[in-house]
Amino acid sequence: MFRHTKIGATIGPSCDTVEILTAMVEAGLDFARLNFSHGTYETHAAAIKTLRAVEEKAGRYLAVMQDLTGPRIRLGDLPEAGLAVKDQDLITFNTSPKFAASEIPVNFAGLEQSLNPGERILIDDGRVEVTIEKISGTNIIAKVIQGGQLLPHKGLNFPDSVLNIPALQEKDLADVAFGVKHGVDTIALSFVKDAGDILALRELINKYSDGKERPIQVIAKIERHEAVRNIDSIVAAADGIMVARGDLGLELLEAEVPLIQKKIIDVAKSAGKPVIVATQLLDSMQHSRRPSRAEVSDVANAVIDHADALLLTNETAAGDFPIETIKTMAEIILLTEASEYDDTPLPKALAGGVTVDVAITELSRVLAEEVHAKCILAGSLTGETGRRISHTRPTIPVMVATEDKRTARQLNLSWGVAPFVMLPCKSIEEFVNNAADYLKQKQIVVPGDRIIIVAGEPVGQAGNVNLVEVREIK
Ligand code: PGA
Ligand code: MN
Repeated sequence: MFRHTKIGATIGPSCDTVEILTAMVEAGLDFARLNFSHGTYETHAAAIKTLRAVEEKAGRYLAVMQDLTGPRIRLGDLPEAGLAVKDQDLITFNTSPKFAASEIPVNFAGLEQSLNPGERILIDDGRVEVTIEKISGTNIIAKVIQGGQLLPHKGLNFPDSVLNIPALQEKDLADVAFGVKHGVDTIALSFVKDAGDILALRELINKYSDGKERPIQVIAKIERHEAVRNIDSIVAAADGIMVARGDLGLELLEAEVPLIQKKIIDVAKSAGKPVIVATQLLDSMQHSRRPSRAEVSDVANAVIDHADALLLTNETAAGDFPIETIKTMAEIILLTEASEYDDTPLPKALAGGVTVDVAITELSRVLAEEVHAKCILAGSLTGETGRRISHTRPTIPVMVATEDKRTARQLNLSWGVAPFVMLPCKSIEEFVNNAADYLKQKQIVVPGDRIIIVAGEPVGQAGNVNLVEVREIK
């Protein structure tokens, strides 16, 4: 059975061997995230090498996503056991490296300039909550609303503040240089606030790239309330979007997250850009072979929302059952996709309006359904044609032939697309013949089957889709 919704996994100590990753790919893994908030350059370089070896062995493309830390604000060094704070306590944070013994260090110089009295700070996934009383120099004086233990290096969220800080921090600059050098396929940026953050990352990638390879794609992680407000311009600037529900649930009301997930998916989908839903999808599988029923529902509902991809985080990076988690997710996706609840009518035209290529990609889905085609076959240099056909959400596989490995890997983030690499062709006839051989060899089609061809003439040029045809496999 063909699975349309893609599966991503965060790589960590629980799954970073060839054996485990091979089993995960066999179970359905489509792309891997390396979280640069953890690990070292050595562990990341080793993981990339392992992933490439697994990809080679499995004969399936596997995108590598580098996930940058961005302006993640954290507590500084505190005693290992933490520091207990009680309801109604007045506590003092200090953003300066020169802090007094009675103060709580925060790792972000200048942060206080974006904060105001009355605004809340959530600490350690919201376990501790405080309200700012006063700003004085680099000190933030706050009253504890929900007490608890302040542990070293735990994250801070600011649901009420507008933080005037760039998404690319010093660490990220070095990390991007590393990512480009090690050939990652996509780079995700955390705590994006606006389109400017995306453009800055693109510029940085260009600076380090030699221009010989296809561009690395930029994924905007939506996890700040400012980003939700700027969603249209962020989607326009980025190549893909991640609904980063972990932080989003702290920056906004938790109850809003399901609706924001739907809204972000809609905006990204109508721009023809892949959208990934991340975090806590099968959270309990970190320590249990079976997910909770609520998690199964969450995965099924994300499928019915028609997200392109679902991304596992701690379940695979640090959990006890990384392989079982992928199997479980694949099973839920397949069953849900087979249901009538998952069917969609032809979506609204792409945000840019109806051009020839938009019309052709829409037609490809309609034709495929009417003539009962086995698949849609497209040629795509940049992957864009593949993403446009994916946007129409056809019920049959979208087989996309490309001459570039990175394009193939990047297409593994897109709903329903099965990418493969093929040598360049000189004519449509040569393209159809070679691709048909591949489809027969992979047992996707047999003689007599119909397929839909989407291509551009003359062949070998990006961005000129002008042909759609029904063909019968000989
Ligand atoms: P993170 O991003 O794991 O890097 O925090 C995902 C999220 O916030 O959901
Ligand atoms: Mn996050």
